[in-house]
Amino acid sequence: MNMNKIISKEFITELLFQTDIVELISNKINVHKKGKNFSSLCPFHKEDHPSFIINKEKQFFYCFGCGIHGNAIDFLMNHDNLNFIESIEELSYICNIKIPYKKFNNNLQKNIIKRKKIYEILKIINIFYQKNLKNTKNESVKNFLKEKNLNNDIIKKFNVGLSTSESKDLIKFFNYNKEKKKLLVESGMIIINKKKQYYNHFRNRIMFPIKNKIGNIVGFGGRSLNNEIPKYINSPETKIFHKKKQLYGLYEIQKKNKNPKKIIIVEGYTDVITLTQYKIDFTVASLGIHISKEQIEILFRITDNIICCYDGDKAGKKATWNTLKSTLPYIEDTKQINFIILPKGEDPDSLIRKIGTIKFKKIIKNSTPLSEFLFKKLLKKIKKKYYNEITKLNVIALPLIEKIPGKITKTLLKQKLNKIQGIIYDPKLEKQINILYPRKIKLNSFDIPIKTGYNIIKILIALLIQNPKLINLINNKLNNKEIKKLKIPGIKIFIHLTKYCKKIKKINTGQLLELYRGNKYYRIINHLSTWDHMIKKKDQNLFLNDGLNKIYKFILQKQQNKLLKKAKTDGLNKKNKIILWNINKTLAKINNKIKLNE
Ligand SMILES: [Zn+2]
Repeated sequence: MNMNKIISKEFITELLFQTDIVELISNKINVHKKGKNFSSLCPFHKEDHPSFIINKEKQFFYCFGCGIHGNAIDFLMNHDNLNFIESIEELSYICNIKIPYKKFNNNLQKNIIKRKKIYEILKIINIFYQKNLKNTKNESVKNFLKEKNLNNDIIKKFNVGLSTSESKDLIKFFNYNKEKKKLLVESGMIIINKKKQYYNHFRNRIMFPIKNKIGNIVGFGGRSLNNEIPKYINSPETKIFHKKKQLYGLYEIQKKNKNPKKIIIVEGYTDVITLTQYKIDFTVASLGIHISKEQIEILFRITDNIICCYDGDKAGKKATWNTLKSTLPYIEDTKQINFIILPKGEDPDSLIRKIGTIKFKKIIKNSTPLSEFLFKKLLKKIKKKYYNEITKLNVIALPLIEKIPGKITKTLLKQKLNKIQGIIYDPKLEKQINILYPRKIKLNSFDIPIKTGYNIIKILIALLIQNPKLINLINNKLNNKEIKKLKIPGIKIFIHLTKYCKKIKKINTGQLLELYRGNKYYRIINHLSTWDHMIKKKDQNLFLNDGLNKIYKFILQKQQNKLLKKAKTDGLNKKNKIILWNINKTLAKINNKIKLNE
């Protein structure tokens, strides 16, 4: 990650020493003291009983409900939608420490102030656009509003505005101020062409401000009038606008209800607004026709049910299928997606104006669940591609079904798959199918075959990440060179981890995790930071000592075997005999020390 080159790891470690995660989080959500820890309703998923825990000692948060976890930086990234650098800037600001940037002398304050200035200027532009709309005499705008039948309340609620066909009115509006001009460029509102001429990015469009989680405008979407192409354009990616992480309408939904039962995802801004006017006020639009995995993650943190309702045209159908495929890795038994297929030529906006709220609600209620939609689509594909050869269904369905983490959902889909093919569900058969189509090994789920010693290493790593103080028990009896030769999976990570723990005195879990961000071991370390190793607190010292002794034993046994083999073939010289004798003695000692049996 090149970001790490800009701000040093040492600085971030130091910053996390200065940070109090409890204070940081309690400034943003309601937390209560619970024993040694602090707890709260999880801000990332819907729940009635608190399962969100903040551990002061570890400088770490964890939700038993949705599994989200991490350090102070992770919290800011997820809760405030900041990127990595922004989170560090925010923390430094709170701790009042200056960031020693390595590569460029851009400083923290400058960036924070810049972001705030961009929010500010976009807010002013939005008011300017709203006035434009109110005072317009443009016939096509009036026709548009008439056709859409949007009322004033809804226009106000979504702060809808108008950019005129003028190409320089924004610069004029800000009195050709040099600093403002720069901000207009940085916020993506004006573009400079090759001839160094400035002009508006949005011209002659109905303007929809896109708001972030806390209601700041971060960008705009513009819809063309007179059916000009492209119909929709968005702000370009800027310091504050990341298209993949924004959902249009989400702020308005959450203002009323933090965790709605369901959220409908549609293609266009006007779909969101019209549906809301018709009291379907749980609708969002992805910016662009393809939903990103970040957007799916955001939605599933807020709601348990996504309903996909794209336009009834070719592009809409394609987008629906893509959304299905992108959503599969996020389908849990409690997190589901349904689909609405609109009649040809209709979009949600046009349809609800024709049929009204009650009938539209019925359509939502009768939306097609994933299990039905998936096979309907696949059977269609088979008809086309494989001339109706039904056995081919396995080939295309199984890889998709395997992506689903929800166990019950997965089993149900497999049962359905077999039923369609006329096979009675048989778990034995499933095993055979799994051999035919082996699932990919997931690094973070540890589906790797267990080898000797691997479980011990896994637990040792988890113990050390979750309680780095244990490093004091690890003395230097372990020779890293010898250990590496053992080739036990995970051993390299363990050695790496012990080095960090030794190097930085009193390091905590949150800091350790940070040191691995962007590193090849991050996924494993991150996974084990919340993994339940089942070792009780009072047994941890014992387990660690035992584990280390067992590793030591492996090493000695290996050397012993080598010498014994040699003794059989070539015989041993005096020196080797002494070595073997010493090994035997040490092994006996270690065996006495090991208290927990494998
Ligand atoms: Zn949660």
